[in-house]
Amino acid sequence: MDPFPDPAMEAVACPDCDLLQEIPALPPGAQARCPRCGHVLARRPTDPIDLPLALTVTAAVVFIVANAMPLMAISAVGRHASTTILGGAYQMWVTGEQITAAIVAFCAVIAPGLYIFFMMTVLTAVRRPPAPHWVGEVLRWGLYMQPWSMYEVMLLGILVALIKIAELAMVDPGIGMYAVGALVILLPAIMVSFDAREVWQRVEWADDEMSSTHEGGDAIRAEAVR
Ligand SMILES: [Zn+2]
Repeated sequence: MDPFPDPAMEAVACPDCDLLQEIPALPPGAQARCPRCGHVLARRPTDPIDLPLALTVTAAVVFIVANAMPLMAISAVGRHASTTILGGAYQMWVTGEQITAAIVAFCAVIAPGLYIFFMMTVLTAVRRPPAPHWVGEVLRWGLYMQPWSMYEVMLLGILVALIKIAELAMVDPGIGMYAVGALVILLPAIMVSFDAREVWQRVEWADDEMSSTHEGGDAIRAEAVR
């Protein structure tokens, strides 16, 4: 069907029926099924780069709002206070909870911030092939940061604290709180719509161009495909 056979065709064994077969180059939005049992072996997202990039840019804006705007405002007996995520971590630090403060700062600010930044860099860089060779390394850093972005845990903790404090004082959720709620949805949406294979394939093209100038370029590529 495809007049140009894909040089990077993968041979896989079907996990259900063990039939060994090659996965052809898939058009966007298509999936490859096992001809014997119908198990879906590979899937190519409709929009593997632009959709996660749009989500990442949105997440970057929301991330800035989440950190710049107050999470909540508390008023009790005529006194009024409001704080941001980092302000809360700083308060914990000065009251002697250094370890908790460091964990909050890392899981709520540093890790998600770096994840969004690395993903935006990778997705912008691979939009126009050939992808620069550093993309693979930056993607690896991004994937290291991904499990440490724990907004859902933080939001749960804040909500529990809110309900407790609400018994003693007037509590107003701030804009930062809504932004954190949006990030709880946006960050998994990036992970779901993003296909790392798409990026690796484009990085391999760049490697091909590099290796084709050398003797034995095929051997390098064969290793990269596995
Ligand atoms: Zn099968």
